This record gives sequence, structure tokens and C-alpha cells, in this order.
Amino acid sequence: MDPTRQKVKLNDGHFIPVLGFGTYAPEEVAKKEALEFTPFAIEVGFRHIDCAHFYQNEEQVGQAIQRKIADGTVKREDIFCTSKLWCTSFRPELVRPALERSLKKLQLDYVDLYIIHFPLALKALEKCKDAGLTKSIGVSNFNHKQLEKILNKPGLKYKPVCNQVECHPYLNQGKLLDFCKSHEIVLVAYAALGSQRVKEWVNPNHPVLLEDPVLSAIAQKHKKTAALIALRYQIQRGVVVLAKGNNKKWIKENMQVFEFELTPEDVKAIDGLNRNIRYYEFHLGVGQPGYPFSEEY
Ligand code: NDP
Repeated sequence: MDPTRQKVKLNDGHFIPVLGFGTYAPEEVAKKEALEFTPFAIEVGFRHIDCAHFYQNEEQVGQAIQRKIADGTVKREDIFCTSKLWCTSFRPELVRPALERSLKKLQLDYVDLYIIHFPLALKALEKCKDAGLTKSIGVSNFNHKQLEKILNKPGLKYKPVCNQVECHPYLNQGKLLDFCKSHEIVLVAYAALGSQRVKEWVNPNHPVLLEDPVLSAIAQKHKKTAALIALRYQIQRGVVVLAKGNNKKWIKENMQVFEFELTPEDVKAIDGLNRNIRYYEFHLGVGQPGYPFSEEY
């Protein structure tokens, strides 16, 4: 199989490509970026596109996907497209209309995965899956207790297929990953390259992940970059990884993640970098019911 088409099986039988293209960008650049860089990402081989209502650029991402379908680069079924339900539409009766709005913007009949952006119940999403508007349903930013609560819910029809969370060598989510694996939930890593350090969200005093000397040394040994080491690390531990880039050189470079392998010693050294640094703390939610990051994992 073409390694760039590497996928993992979800607990509902669908498959998700292990490398995804992140489309979040700060408000002022989100739209034009999506029009320029999403088509390019598809051209160089990305087949998993991570979108969300909150990113305010689904219309542009949708145009990009349609452009690449129209010019014959891909077919709809080649693309794995995720969207996410934002907090303003968490009331059950608002869920399906929110998904339908995203579908309209994306110009799609269905998404491959619909995710609850922040912790909440899954019931209304199950109905969207039954209606064929999404192939799979998942969650994001859930801690293990919140996952457990969902999994233990009487009458649960579909388990979430994934939990999309911040994950990188400084916050490697080892315990949450083990928990997810034991329940056949795929962990999807965001901020895998250390986040875009957008000032509204990220504490500027946190160290820059891609400047880490251990990552740099391993990169030098493999004649790759620290970014590729951070992405490869996730794939080798069974994590689906997202990579953002608004630079064509980087978007192309990130496809090289399939061209090399880390040794067990490399992986051990990267495991040793774990230091509980969370770039996206979502301070606005602190103290609110459901705020997920007060638990250890
Ligand atoms: P990443 O950690 O993936 O990337 C950070 C930055 O790394 C990019 O902005 C890019 O800079 C740079 N970069 C990309 N490739 C390379 C490379 N090869 N070498 C050096 N630098 C590189 O960013 P995000 O925090 O955006 O996370 C990725 C995606 O995850 C988002 O776009 C979004 O889709 C999703 N996400 C989900 C969240 C959730 O709550 N569910 C929260 C946050 C993100 P530049 O932009 O300058 O090119």
C-alpha cells in the first residue's frame, strides 16, 4: 500500500488517514489561507482535512475540496473530512441544523467524522450518524472521566470513534492514550507541532517545541526536521496526527513523515520530554461545568 495512504480502523468500521491537515488559523488569516493552502495540501497528498465551524473558514475549505474534485485530483470518497460542533449549538435540537450548515458550507452531502468540540453528551450526534450526515462521530478535549461517563451511558448506541486532544512530546497524553486504546477510541493529536502560538490562546512563555534540542538531535540523525520527528512519533504510537501549515514548503515536507522510522531509543528519548505543558489551556472555560483540563488525564 502507498504509505502516504496509511489509515487506521475506527471502532465503527470506517478508516481514518493517520496524517491530517489542520485548517485552524487566527481569524484575520483563516479565510484566505484555506483557499490557498488546502488545495495545495490535497495536491501533495493529504487526504484527511480537519475543519470546524469555529474556524470560520468551512466555506473556503469546501471550495478548495470541490476544486480538487473538479480537476480530477481526488474523488469525494478519497477525502476524509472532519467537522466539529461548536458550543453554541450543543442543545440537542440545534445539533443537526449545525451539522447541516457545515455541510452546506463544505458543499458535501456528508462528513466522515463529526466531533463535539468540547465535552457534552453524544445523543444528538447519534441521530446525525443514523441520518447519514456523518459517517462517524467523535469527541474532542474529553478527559478520561468524561469519556468513561459517555461509555457507561445506558443506551449508548455508538461509541465515539476518536478523542481529538492536544498531544505532542511536551504533553504526550500517555495515560489518556492507553485509556483510549483500551476502549478502541483513536486519539487524534492537535498542536502536534507545538501549536500556532496564537496569542489569544497560548501562553507565550511556554517553550517552542520545535526548538527542543532532543528533537533536533534526533532530526539531525535521520536527516529530517524536528517537525517530522514530532509527527512521526505520533504515528508510531498509534496516534492520528494533524499538522497545520501556511507555508507550502512545510506542507510538502510534512508528507515525508512516511519516509523514515524512529528507533525504539528515539521513541524513548522523546517519551522523556513529557512535561505537562499544555499550549491551549482554554482559560475561558476554567471553573465551568465540564472544563476538561483539571483532571490529570
Ligand atoms: P500545529 O501544532 O499543527 O502547527 C503549528 C505550526 O507549525 C503551524 O502553524 C506551522 O506554522 C508550523 N509548521 C508546520 N509544518 C512545519 C514544519 N514542517 N516545520 C516547521 N514548522 C512547521 O498547529 P495547530 O495548533 O493549528 O493544530 C493543528 C490543527 O489541529 C488545527 O489547525 C486544527 O485543525 C486542530 N485543532 C483542534 C483543536 C480542538 O480543540 N479540537 C484545538 C487546536 C487545533 P505556519 O502556520 O507559520 O506555517
